[in-house]
Amino acid sequence: MLNTVSIATVAAENAHTQTHVHRSKECYGCYKKYAFDSAILDHLEYDTCPSGVTLENINWWAFECYQHRYYTNNWDDEYQYRCPRNHDNFKYVSALLRHTESPTCGANQDRCIQKVKAYIEKKVRDLESSASS
Ligand SMILES: [Zn+2]
Ligand SMILES: [Zn+2]
Repeated sequence: MLNTVSIATVAAENAHTQTHVHRSKECYGCYKKYAFDSAILDHLEYDTCPSGVTLENINWWAFECYQHRYYTNNWDDEYQYRCPRNHDNFKYVSALLRHTESPTCGANQDRCIQKVKAYIEKKVRDLESSASS
């Protein structure tokens, strides 16, 4: 299991090794492996995770995180998310993360992005432990 520090380290490594990607991150809700957090979010948003996490869960948690004002627009907006460095707007958390992971953005290590990833991960794991108990 990864703690917050090692997630940040892995993300930093990924930023340098995007050409030869190895799938090193495990989904927060199952055992599937992905190369990027954005790919895990994609998998969760498409309701393909056996944990039962849905797009609604992800959106709700992303707005619940106390750092949300740095990366969200309004709940009712078509594009609910924005780059914390104001490069662009996005419909999905996965799209936001994919953008921040790209070399053109660089916000992947920003506190609010680290926080929302850690928060969603915690929520998925909480869901898992309450389902199995
Ligand atoms: Zn999964
Ligand atoms: Zn950006």
